[in-house]
Formats: sequence, structure tokens, C-alpha cells
Amino acid sequence: MIEQTLSIIKPDAVERNIANKIKVFFEKNNLKILKSKKVKISKEEASEFYKAHQTKPFYKELCNYLSSGPIVVMILEGENAVSKNRQLMGATDPSKAEEGTLRKMYGLSIGKNSVHGSDSAENGKTEIDFFFK
Ligand code: UDP
Ligand code: MG
Repeated sequence: MIEQTLSIIKPDAVERNIANKIKVFFEKNNLKILKSKKVKISKEEASEFYKAHQTKPFYKELCNYLSSGPIVVMILEGENAVSKNRQLMGATDPSKAEEGTLRKMYGLSIGKNSVHGSDSAENGKTEIDFFFK
């Protein structure tokens, strides 16, 4: 099934100028970048985006982090794009991510893990609307 998902290149990766490498990696792995833009969001916007995590101990740090610098937000499209993107990203903690995944290659820590990807088709729609509506 062809579907869409939201991908974010997080501040640690934008800052290291590897956004383009990450984009090429998606395209090479058959996820087409339908839309892409570089933005900087406020702490309030980050808090809204990550509100599903509001009870987690890392929530505040996470929202501060996502709003700390420019990010690149993208709509990816392809066969099973949601799960495909999650596979390409690898585990949340880069030290536990499989070889060849983005987080293994570029992640710095569990927080600064370079990329975000929607975790379901439904959340994908909500997250795409958040940035592109
Ligand atoms: N995160 C963190 N500490 C944790 C778990 C998560 O800082 O113990 C951050 C990390 O940046 C992660 C984000 O919160 O990407 C969202 O967490 P989630 O469990 O949704 O992981 P993901 O879906 O990004 O793999
Ligand atoms: Mg998640």
C-alpha cells in the first residue's frame, strides 16, 4: 500500500550539515520526498507536536531540544512508508540501532537521535497536517 509519513531531520543532524545525506538515503531506499522545508519551531509548537509524550520524564528536555535549532520536515511517500521509514531510522537509542540504519550511522544519543518518523498511518496524517496544512 502506498502511504505517506512525516519525517523530521532533528537539530543535531541539521547542525552537522547531514540533512542532504539523509534525504539521499530516503530516496535511495524508495521513499520519495514529496515536500520538504526547513523550519524552526517554538517550544510551544514542539510541546504540541510531542503532546503524546507529555507524561514522560524526558518530555520537557525533548521539547526544548526540538525547538533548539532548525529542523527539516518532510512528507515521505512509498510502499508501507510508515514502517519502512521506522526501519530505515532504527531503534530510538542509537547504541541499540541496527547497522545501516540512520540512527546507527548518525545518532549521537537517545535524545539527539537525528530523525523522527511517524509511528502509525493515523499519526502520520496528523503530523503531516501539523507542518504542511
Ligand atoms: N527520547 C528521549 N529519552 C527517552 C526516550 C525518547 O530523549 O528515554 C526522545 C528521543 O528523541 C525520541 C523522542 O523522545 O526520538 C520520542 O520518543 P519515542 O519513544 O516516540 O521514540 P521514536 O518514535 O522517536 O523512536
Ligand atoms: Mg515516536
